[in-house]
Amino acid sequence: MDSVIRNATVVTAGSQSAAIDIGIEDGRIVQLGGAMSAAHELDAGGRYVLPGGIDGHVHLTPAGSAPQSYRWCDDWEAGTAAALAGGVTTVGNMSHPDPGTGESIRVSTERDAADGEARSRTDFFLHPVLMDPSPSELDALAELHAAGHTSVKIFLSFRRFDRSVHGYLEALRRTAQCGGLALIHCEDVALMECACTILREQGKLTAEHFPQGRPVAAERAATERAVAMAEVTGCPIYVVHLSSLDALDACRAGQARGTSVEVETRPIYLFLTEERFAEANGAKYAGAPPLRSERDVAGLWAALAQGSIATVATDHAPWKLADKLDPALDATNLRLGMSELETMLPMLWWAGVRTGRLSVSRFVEVTSTNPAKLFGLYPRKGTIAVGADADLVIWDTERSRTIDGSAFYSNADYSPYDGWTVTGWPDVVMSRGEVVVEGGRLTDAARPGRGRLAPRGASQPR
Ligand SMILES: [Zn+2]
Repeated sequence: MDSVIRNATVVTAGSQSAAIDIGIEDGRIVQLGGAMSAAHELDAGGRYVLPGGIDGHVHLTPAGSAPQSYRWCDDWEAGTAAALAGGVTTVGNMSHPDPGTGESIRVSTERDAADGEARSRTDFFLHPVLMDPSPSELDALAELHAAGHTSVKIFLSFRRFDRSVHGYLEALRRTAQCGGLALIHCEDVALMECACTILREQGKLTAEHFPQGRPVAAERAATERAVAMAEVTGCPIYVVHLSSLDALDACRAGQARGTSVEVETRPIYLFLTEERFAEANGAKYAGAPPLRSERDVAGLWAALAQGSIATVATDHAPWKLADKLDPALDATNLRLGMSELETMLPMLWWAGVRTGRLSVSRFVEVTSTNPAKLFGLYPRKGTIAVGADADLVIWDTERSRTIDGSAFYSNADYSPYDGWTVTGWPDVVMSRGEVVVEGGRLTDAARPGRGRLAPRGASQPR
C-alpha cells in the first residue's frame, strides 16, 4: 500500500462513515476501514473526506491557438492550478473549434486533448463544441464518441444555430444513436438581438441594462425549445448554467413528461442578483445568462436541495478586470464569464452546507457524484469506494478566508466575490493518490502535465 489516510469521515452520495482509514495504492483506493499501514500516512483527524470536485464546465484557452474572440486568461496550467486549490480534481473543458480558421471538430478536440495531456494538473475530459453541423462534422460525432468524447456542446445563443437548425437536430439524433449527451446553452439569439436593438434605440447602453439585452424570455424560449428537441430526437440533454425559475420550470415540465433533461447551475446565480450591474464596474459580473432576481436565487437553491438541479459547475471563463471593463463595450456586447474554479466548492459549502440548506452528502452529489455519472466517469471518479481513483479532499470546515481574486492561482485579477469572508476550504487535496494541495497551497507534485484524459463510459442516470 502506498499511503493511508487515517481517521477520515468519508462522505459519499447518500452516506457518511464513522472515522475510518483509507488505503491507497497505484493511485486508487484499495481498502476502506480495517487494519492497514503504509510508508506515507496522513491523519484526517476525524474531518470530512470528500471525493474530489468534478467541474464539468470550464473554458481554458489552448496554448498556441490562433487569435480568436474567446481568449480567456487561463490556460490549462493556470486554470487547473485554481481547480486543485479549490478542491476540484477533474475538469470538463469545452473544446471550441477556432471559427477564424474553420477548424474541424475533430482537429480541435484532438488539439485540446494533447494540450491537456501536456499541461493539465488535473484529470480532464472534453466536450467537443459543434459550431457547424455540416455532413462531415456530423460524421465526426460518432468517431469522437468512439474515442471517448461522449458529449457534444451546442449553443442556441449563436446566429448559426437558427441558420443550421436542421443540421443541429440531426446532430442530436446522431448523439442519441451513439448513446451520448448534448450540452445545450439555452438563450434564444433572435430574441436577444431584438432586445439589444431596443436598448440601442433607447440609448440604454450602460452595464446596468445588460440583463435587458439577454432577458429571461430568451432563456425560457430556448430552454423550451431544447426540451422539445430532446423529446423529438430522443437525445438526452444537459442544460448548462440555468439561471431563472422560468427556464427551470420548462426543464421540470420536460422531466415530468419523461424526457431526459438534466440541469446545471452556476455559482453566480446562487450568490448574486441583477442589481449588481448598477454598481460602478458592474460589467465585471457579466455572464450569459445574466444575473437574475432574488426570487430566482431562492428558487435555484431550493431546486438544488430538492434535486431538479443535478450539478453545480463554474463555467470558468476568466478575464482580467480591465478587459471586462473595456470602455469600448456596452450593454449589448460585454465580455462574458469570470473566474470561479477556486471559489466554487468553498462558497457552496459556506452558503449551502454551513447554513443547513444542503447536507454534506448532497454537496458531494452535486459537485462530484452527479457530474461523474452524467459524464460517464463513475464509479472510477465521483465517489469514495474500493477501485475508485484516490481523488480526495480533506475539508477544513473551520478555515475562513477573505476572497481576494488577485491572490488566486487563476490569471484573472479579480473575483466577483472580492471581500467576502468564506468559511470552509480544502486543506489537503489528493489526485490519483498524490498530495497536490497541502494547507490550501499547491505542492510540487501538482505539476503541469500530470493530468490525464479521463476514460469515459456511457452517461448514467443519477
Ligand atoms: Zn460555458
